[in-house]
Order: sequence, then structure tokens, then C-alpha cells
Amino acid sequence: MSSHILLIYTGGTIGMGVNAATGVLEPLDFALLLSHMPELQDIPAHVDVHQFDKPIDSSDMSPSLWAHIVDIIVDHYDDYDGFVVLHGTDTMAFTASALSFMLENLTKPVVLTGSQLPIGQLRTDGRENLITSIEIAAAKGADGHPRVPEVCIYFSGKLLRGNRSTKVNSEGFNAFDTFNFPHLADAGVKITFHDELILQPDYNRPMTPHKEMDTGVAVFTLYPGIEETMVRYFLNAPNLHAVVMRTYGSGNAPQQPWLMAALQEASDKGIVVVNITQCAAGPVEMARYSGGFLLKNAGVISGFDGTVECATAKLMHLRGLSSDPAFIRRSMQRPLCGEISISG
Ligand code: ASP
Repeated sequence: MSSHILLIYTGGTIGMGVNAATGVLEPLDFALLLSHMPELQDIPAHVDVHQFDKPIDSSDMSPSLWAHIVDIIVDHYDDYDGFVVLHGTDTMAFTASALSFMLENLTKPVVLTGSQLPIGQLRTDGRENLITSIEIAAAKGADGHPRVPEVCIYFSGKLLRGNRSTKVNSEGFNAFDTFNFPHLADAGVKITFHDELILQPDYNRPMTPHKEMDTGVAVFTLYPGIEETMVRYFLNAPNLHAVVMRTYGSGNAPQQPWLMAALQEASDKGIVVVNITQCAAGPVEMARYSGGFLLKNAGVISGFDGTVECATAKLMHLRGLSSDPAFIRRSMQRPLCGEISISG
């Protein structure tokens, strides 16, 4: 029996066309573009399309639209074997991270994809990305369960864990990667799944959706010359509940007493500060240099080898579940769905 796949079109370049008046790319009705893809008839899967009422450029993605995607998946969960989410590349890694926490114990594939060139253009990467994503969402293992029951990104031959992914190129077709985690599958002449890396849910438990996301989460980057007044202003922002602090190297920071005091005060107020490195690859190890060690003493917790996108989405999710800083600190320091590897 062929698989049933729901294609959720949110917008992004893949479905865009050129506005004749301004010359800029704008989201179009995707059903129109799908009619130009006769290849879809050849895929051994039945594909239905659910389109956002108003497709967006993913720069306009938001926690309430994440909740809308969750609603669409929940409403159709029993009717489909897998879901493909067509999404702009700019914020795809944030959405993939958020969905991985919002769909707890996911038992079906949710594959996000998009493209760098619109699907209607001659050299588009959208066709291959879309067709392979549908194939992956439809793939079943020998036991009849889906081959990839997790939130992932498929792009340019690589299937990546969604909450480990980062957009790495604004122009090249090879737009995504996971620097701290291997690919879940590689698509060449055939698709090679790395089954030992793929998350396995508990099929005896239902998938549990979570839609509350707290937006009192902010990201800030350390840099040489950072001023005390600016850091203090930031840490005293109203409604600030959690911070992703982008540090140097293995989680290092300037050893300024004012910085440590400001972070300690934030932590004492219940603001959870998570240490994520500015490096693309490698983990935070706060015990390695004295700057990191001082941060730890000031109440900053390690983000291990997680990405900024994922730490931000995870903090929003955890704060949506509870306002207890102890719960958030504890949960940030263990993997919920493969988003970090604990070390050092
Ligand atoms: N600006 C577009 C978006 O994120 C870029 C893309 O889809 O590649 O929606």
C-alpha cells in the first residue's frame, strides 16, 4: 500500500515567483506550481497539499506560526504516514528545532525542505529537494515503522537532524549542515539511511503536542570591547527570562568582574543564561579556561554542543512548560530529542 504524505506549504523561495512590478521574489500559490511538476505522479506515495492561507517569507516565521504547523500536523496525524513542510531556508533551522520539542514522542517523519531557487526556475534545486523529502517521509523500515520518525531537514543530498541544523550558505545549493552531528541519511544514486543515528520513539505512547512558547528569550554575542552599560541594560530588559550567550571558543568570556557580577545578578533573579560557542563546530567545555570557569561560578550553564537556533527554541519551549528556573536549568542540561551530546 502506498504511503500518504501531507505536504504543508508555508512559503519560502521554493514556491516564489517574480513580482513583475518590483522584480522581487514573493510567495505564490503552491498548487499552481505543483501542476508544473509531473514527476510527482511517479512517486510511489499519495501526496495531499495543505497551504498556509498566506504563504510567507520565512523571515516572518514566529512561535504562533509554529503552533499553527503543530495544529495542522495534529489534525491530520492519523491520516498520513509522514509530513513534508515546505519552508523558507532563512529560519528553517529555528522551525525544525522548535517542532522537535513541540512534537514530543513523534512517531512519524516531519521533513522540512525548501530551495535556493524557486521551483519554477530552470536550474532549481527545489525539485530534487522536494521529491527526495517525500521519498524519505514515505520510507518504512522492515518492521513497518517509519524509517525516520523525527523532525529533520532534507537539503542538497543530506538528511539532517532538525535541531542540530544551521543554515551555512545564503547562495549555494548546499545550504544546511550539522557540524556537531553526522547526517541521518545521504542521498546519491540511492538513499543511504544511517539507522543507528535515527531517534526511535515509544510506539506505545501517543505523540504529545506542546504549543506554548515563551518569547522572553534573547540571544547576545560577546565581542572584544563589549560595554558594561550595554550588558546591564540588556540583562535588565523587561520580560527577559532566559538568554543564549554566544561565547568564545570552548565557552570562554572576558574575565571582567563586572560581567561576572551582572551575570550572577541575572541568575539570582531567575534568568537562565546558557553558554553556546560562536564556533560553528565543537562543544562548550566550561572547565577548560578560567573565563569559562568564572561563567560557571556566576550561574551560567553549558549549552554543550548545541546550536544557537536550538538553544533559543528549547528555552522558549521549556519556559512555555514551566517558569521554574531549576526545571529549566535541569532540562537544558539533558537531551530531550537528540539536540545535544553531553560532555565536559
Ligand atoms: N527569504 C527566503 C525565506 O526564507 C529564503 C529561502 O527560502 O531560501 O523564505
